[in-house]
Amino acid sequence: MSYLKNPLLEIDSNPILIRPSWDDYFFGLAFLISQRSSDWSTKHAAIAVDKNHKVIGFGYNGLVRGVDDGQVPRDRNEKNRWMIHSEVNLILNSYRSFNDTDSIYITGIPCLQCTSNLIQHGAKKIIMADRRGYSNPPLTQLKDIKKLCKKCKINLKTVKPNLNWLYEEKLKRELTDLCFITK
Ligand SMILES: [Zn+2]
Repeated sequence: MSYLKNPLLEIDSNPILIRPSWDDYFFGLAFLISQRSSDWSTKHAAIAVDKNHKVIGFGYNGLVRGVDDGQVPRDRNEKNRWMIHSEVNLILNSYRSFNDTDSIYITGIPCLQCTSNLIQHGAKKIIMADRRGYSNPPLTQLKDIKKLCKKCKINLKTVKPNLNWLYEEKLKRELTDLCFITK
């Protein structure tokens, strides 16, 4: 039996165990988490993970605790004044400060203020999802973010995640078998 000689090799080459990469996995989680956001126009989430791929914390954008989610203002500018950004919630929800070996995954471009907050909390590696409209609104802001990260020696990168794995028939079948998806 060849797998007895090299069980790890056998497991890795097993087609049943094809898995998403770490980047795709954490972006998949981040986009799922963002669905809890009460923001009707822009749903964001951020996750911090350590070098062992253990989640340190996560956050999505929303109103301050205690305010009814149904009270999100319909006016965009007014709404934006009241929203707590996902990165701030990530910092507040994380069980410790960030360090050099942690990665912060964000479902888009952080604002300048949030980038500063992440850096102040110890982040050294920030990974942004390249999503539609990525460079639309805050081009100057992105420029400033890059400048800031360069100054602070932050590893800032953009990734276009592949989230096809979330929509695999196999996953849907498993969740249906477990009665988590209604037929
Ligand atoms: Zn922000």
